[in-house]
Amino acid sequence: MGKRILVHVCCGPCSTASIERLVSEGYEPVLFFSDSNIFPYEEFMKRYENLLIVAHHYGLSVILDEWDHDAWLDAVKGHEADREHGERCLLCFRFNLARAAEKARELGIDSFTTTLTVSRFKSSPAIFSIGEQFPGFEKIDFKKKDGFNRSILLSKSLGLYRQDYCGCEFSLRDRK
Ligand code: SF4
Repeated sequence: MGKRILVHVCCGPCSTASIERLVSEGYEPVLFFSDSNIFPYEEFMKRYENLLIVAHHYGLSVILDEWDHDAWLDAVKGHEADREHGERCLLCFRFNLARAAEKARELGIDSFTTTLTVSRFKSSPAIFSIGEQFPGFEKIDFKKKDGFNRSILLSKSLGLYRQDYCGCEFSLRDRK
């Protein structure tokens, strides 16, 4: 048995290459879908259902966190007008990573990480600087080893839905 690691998962497509890499490196991933930032709720469920396809493919199960969008809105209050990659996104990472750290602690899992680093649109150093403020965070840069391209390839082969906005209503507004 590999080393258990709780994996905060942002969406199915990003989970593909991350899971593949973790398994190849001897980890036993415990998937945690905790993304109260996603709006609307139907989109949250759609992304969760796509993660279930990936989890099934790798023979894993998924722990689903509640969709506490009001709490997330409180956490980013005052930053609604920020552009993507600004302060709001750092607060958003913090919100989700705090929940992942708490879940890992609750389950007695010593380490946790996040699939957020797969995306070439997200800064891994920024994610690491927040993650390392929580005990047990492992700085794994999933975009390394061609992770981003690998996630696109795997997502296509599994027929996954690939969203065209980051997740919150503000990123949806900016896309429009
Ligand atoms: S744009 Fe993405 S990372 Fe930034 S706050 Fe919205 S959901 Fe979070």
